[in-house]
Amino acid sequence: MLYVVPTPIGNLQDITLRALEVLKGVDAVLCEDTRRTQILLSHFGISKPTYRYNENDEHSVSRCLETLKSGKTCALVSDCGTPCISDPGWKLVRAAVQEGIKVSSLPGPSAVACALAGAGITGGAFTFLGFLPRKPGKAAKLISQAYALDVPVVLYESPYRVIKMLELIAKTLGAETPVILARELSKVYEEWLRGTAQSLAQQLAKKSKVQGEFVMIIDRPATEKKEEDEADPNF
Ligand code: SAM
Repeated sequence: MLYVVPTPIGNLQDITLRALEVLKGVDAVLCEDTRRTQILLSHFGISKPTYRYNENDEHSVSRCLETLKSGKTCALVSDCGTPCISDPGWKLVRAAVQEGIKVSSLPGPSAVACALAGAGITGGAFTFLGFLPRKPGKAAKLISQAYALDVPVVLYESPYRVIKMLELIAKTLGAETPVILARELSKVYEEWLRGTAQSLAQQLAKKSKVQGEFVMIIDRPATEKKEEDEADPNF
């Protein structure tokens, strides 16, 4: 049995009771980084064997699969949030499904859901692109295609590249494109920045250093949203 177990994205109190119960009950925990997971487990007084799971290493995937096939119950965790969401895990889940091993996916923290819920811009459809490719041409093409679907586009971005990404959005979709930056969600310095792609790029460029983790939401233009408000098809 394989449990997919979400872990906090910043605030340790966000772990669910069920996640703790599963982590206490399994034979082993498969992790992205055993040291990080050990810190989490010891915070909750859980002592379990941890094994590193490396998605890019076939041996690692098959080793974890063998553990499951031997009848052991395992929990799959990533460094933060929900495994398989811009994080390792999906290849092991796929292999488990193919081998007929039961998979149970627990609900829990994920930065994309947390950011969208606090943004107040949609109750329904959105496009999630995760981390965009490094090449500006490829990234611009993906952003344009996703934005053409007429729903908000959600991205993950590192603090080192967030200004460059805002500039790319301004260049690709227009300087006045509305953007919401959800920074350090669930942490002490949680912050929400709202503006246009250009104004936010300029605002962040004034800082000596951009720090923290960001979810970036590219919103629809205000004119389009007025019409949507009148009839929300999601309810
Ligand atoms: N699996 C995770 C999830 O379910 O959200 C995502 C892991 S991905 C490797 C890490 C990225 O998620 C960060 O670069 C950032 O874009 C976003 N992220 C994670 N924690 C965050 C937080 N506390 N606040 C804002 N964004 C966060």
